Amino acid sequence: MSKSALITGITGQDGSYLAEHLVSLGYEVHGLIRGQNNPRAAIVRRIVPELHLIEGDLHDQSSLISALEATHPDEVYNLGAISFVALSFKQAINTGEITGLGVTRMLDAIRVVNPKIRFYQASSSEMFGKVRETPQTELTPFHPRSPYGVAKVYGHYITVNYRESYGMFAVSGILFNHESPRRGLEFVSRKITDGVARIKLGLETELRLGNIDSLRDWGFAGDYVRAMHLMLQQEEPDDFVVATGETHSVRELLELAFGQVGLRWQDHVVVDERFLRPADVAMLVGDAGKARSVLGWQPTVSFPELVARMVESDLRAVAADLTANSAATPR
Ligand code: NAP
Repeated sequence: MSKSALITGITGQDGSYLAEHLVSLGYEVHGLIRGQNNPRAAIVRRIVPELHLIEGDLHDQSSLISALEATHPDEVYNLGAISFVALSFKQAINTGEITGLGVTRMLDAIRVVNPKIRFYQASSSEMFGKVRETPQTELTPFHPRSPYGVAKVYGHYITVNYRESYGMFAVSGILFNHESPRRGLEFVSRKITDGVARIKLGLETELRLGNIDSLRDWGFAGDYVRAMHLMLQQEEPDDFVVATGETHSVRELLELAFGQVGLRWQDHVVVDERFLRPADVAMLVGDAGKARSVLGWQPTVSFPELVARMVESDLRAVAADLTANSAATPR
């Protein structure tokens, strides 16, 4: 009999990649969608036509219980969150509610409806923040530097707590940055590749950014969703770091992205203090040795290839917009 999964955060970057992956494995896939007439529903439906959408919100416990009762999932992937670090500083309480307490609401809904459902929590390398050691592993202590990171630490520990208290199969995947052409435009990688496309096609001349010295461990989202699924197929529940093991600066990303279209980033990038954060994370790099040995997982897309794919995709998207707009303009 085929398995069934419920994914929160279905309209986000990882939601669509994970849904595609699970559909390819024969799963019946349900996605939790929030709000009235969410405009992103149509986009994710186009990407994954086999997907079933069900209404619900991580702020609303009874909607989660109803979604579980209606969909009977074997596995729940909790990807829903306020996930943009900069926004978490502006909406710290809302971030605690959704990114933090939302995890407890879902875990408790599972405990009540069917504690045999396997649960994946989307934890983050931002929990390491001001890092205590390099590279970071499952045993590295946390020191988050943003309301987002703090809320994710809560989500991580409540997942471990429900596993230990109620014997639930609940796991936390500590994923380092992962990007793709589907990354939201607010995130620095996509802001850069979209900016490069706009500058190359003559729509803009400059790109304003915050700290370009940050170092991150960047992988491809399509690779990372395979690790989420593998974590729920193990005999025993456990937590895993998922990372490439390489770190690159925002500068290197700029070099590659502008270089791909024959431009120099120094001619277009303006460092704008408005984008600096009250507290920042200087450098992250993960050790995914446990995921490699236990899950048999490894990344397949290199950093240069990832940036190249994102720039190509944004060049196509911006050019298509230009063509559509010029066709719509009356002569
Ligand atoms: P994303 O693109 O920002 O997507 C976030 C999702 O959360 C959206 O689908 C959004 O839906 C949903 N959401 C927001 N508020 C909600 C609420 N109240 N109830 C239910 N859903 C809500 O994030 P992502 O990059 O796919 O990441 C997926 C998860 O992994 C997130 O939890 C993120 O924090 C975590 N993570 C990501 C990375 C990374 O590098 N991408 C690394 C580590 C961990 P709407 O359409 O309704 O806004």
